[in-house]
Amino acid sequence: MYNGVKKQEGLIDITTPILNKEYILNITSQGTGGEGVARVDGYTLFVHGAISGDVVRAKVTKLNKSYGFAKLAEIIEPSPNRCEPLCPAFCDCGGCQLMHMTYESQCEFKRQTVKDALLRIGGIDCEVDFVPCDKPTHYRNKMVFPFSEKGEWGFYKGGSHDVIPLKDCPLGDSLNAKVLNFVRDFCKREHIFFYNEKTHKGILRRVFTRVSAENSEMMVVISVNADSLPHSDKLTAGLSAISPRITSIILNVNKKRTNLVLGEKNITLYGKETLTDTLLGLSYEISPHSFFQINHTQTEKLYTKALEYAELDKTKTVFDLYCGIGTISLSAAKLAKNVIGVEIVPPAIENAKKNARDNNIENAEFYCAAAEDITPELIEKGIKPDTVILDPPRKGSDERTLSAIVSAKPERIVYVSCNPATLARDLKFLAENGYKTDKATAFDMFPHTSHVEVVCSLSKKPQSWADFYKNRTLDQIMEDNYDGDWE
Ligand code: SAH
Repeated sequence: MYNGVKKQEGLIDITTPILNKEYILNITSQGTGGEGVARVDGYTLFVHGAISGDVVRAKVTKLNKSYGFAKLAEIIEPSPNRCEPLCPAFCDCGGCQLMHMTYESQCEFKRQTVKDALLRIGGIDCEVDFVPCDKPTHYRNKMVFPFSEKGEWGFYKGGSHDVIPLKDCPLGDSLNAKVLNFVRDFCKREHIFFYNEKTHKGILRRVFTRVSAENSEMMVVISVNADSLPHSDKLTAGLSAISPRITSIILNVNKKRTNLVLGEKNITLYGKETLTDTLLGLSYEISPHSFFQINHTQTEKLYTKALEYAELDKTKTVFDLYCGIGTISLSAAKLAKNVIGVEIVPPAIENAKKNARDNNIENAEFYCAAAEDITPELIEKGIKPDTVILDPPRKGSDERTLSAIVSAKPERIVYVSCNPATLARDLKFLAENGYKTDKATAFDMFPHTSHVEVVCSLSKKPQSWADFYKNRTLDQIMEDNYDGDWE
C-alpha cells in the first residue's frame, strides 16, 4: 500500500514504516507547528517542510509507537496552497513556519487549528471567526537578534541555538538591518567579543529592537555579558546618527548563564528609558522588560473584539488578569465602573500605574502579584468582578485562578489566548464549572508563523433545577415553596 500514491521504483511498500527507508507520502493535514502529516495505516508521520495537499518523497528518521518523523527529500506534486517563500532563510531559520503557504491558506490552517483544539481538547463546538492581517510583512514591532561567536546576526535555527545569519527579516522594521550591521561592525572594530553560550565567554549577547506605531520611534537594547560596554560613547554616537527615529539606547546587563533574553539591570546610554506607543487612543510607556503586543493593527482589532465580548457598562467591575502594562485594563476602564489589573512583572505594573495617570484614568488599580495568589484573596475580601478578562502566557491559566474566578460567579468571562491547546484545556475546566463558550474569534497576529491569537466569550450557564436544589437546605426549599397564608 502506498498511502494512495502510485509506487515509484526503488521505494518500499508502506504498512508500518521502517527507519531510514524512503516512502512516497500523501500529506493530508498539518500539525499545530505547521509540519506536514501523512497517515499510513493508522500510523502518523510528521514531515517538516511539507504542507497539506503535497505528495512527497521522504525518509523516515525517527519512529515511536504510533507516530514518527520523516525528512523531506522531494516534492513530487506540490499542493495548490504552496508558494515561493519571501525570505531566502526560510526553512533554516526557526522564526517562520508557514512562509511556503499562500497567505489565504495560512489563515484557513490557523482557523482550523483553533477549531480542532477547542473540539478535541475542550469538547467545545463553536464557530471560529478569523481576522486576517491586512499587512502580513513588516508587522513586528519587536525583534530579538542573537549573534554568533563570529559576529553574524540572525535567528536561531528551529529547535536549536545555532544562529542562522540573516541580511534582513521581512517581518520586522526596515531600520533593523542597519542597526544590527552597525553594532556588529562596532564590536569588531573595538575588539568586543561576541558571546558564546557554551563557554559563557564573550560580551555581546543579543540586540533587541522595539518600534512604536504612532511616530515610529525605535528603542535599541543591547544585551551584554558584562557590567558595562567599552567605548559605549562611540556606540551611542554612531547608532543615534543612523536615524532620528532611534530615541533610546539601553544597555542590558545579562551575566547569567541563561536563555532569558534580558538580565535584570538596564542602563540608559542615550535618550529615553521607555518607548511611547498608543493603542485605541491611549498612550503607553513601555520599558524593555514589559510585554507589549507585537502587531499593532491586529492588537487594536483584538482588543476591540475583547471589549465587545465583555459587554461593559458603567455599573461593571472588571478583573483584567495577566494585564501586562495595563493595555486591556485601561481600554476597559473607559467603559466600566472600575478595573483591577493583575500582573506578575514589577516593571510592567509600574508602567501600568503610570499609564493610568498619564491617560487621566482614575478607575483602574493594579496589583503586582501572581494571578493564582491574588485572585482568590481579592474575592475572599469581597471584591467581586462582574466581568473577568484574562490573557495568560502560553502555558495558560491554572486551576487556582480559574476556581477563584468561578467562585465569584461573574456574568461574563473573556479569555484571550496565544495558545489554542491551553485555551481549550482551560475552557473545558470552565465548562465543567458553569461557563459556556459562546463565541470565538481568532486573529492573525503573527503572519507566516504557526502562532495564532484567540478571543473567546463565555457566559454563565443557566443553572438546572437539580443543581439549584443540590445547594439548598431543606428550610430554604420549604421557603421557596411557601405560597403565603392566603390559602
Ligand atoms: N494583557 C496584556 C499581557 C498579556 S501577556 C497585553 O495584552 O499586553 C501575559 C502576561 O502575563 C505577561 O505580561 C506576563 O508577565 C504575565 N504573567 C505571567 N504569569 C503570570 C502570573 N502567574 N500571574 C500574573 N501575571 C502573569
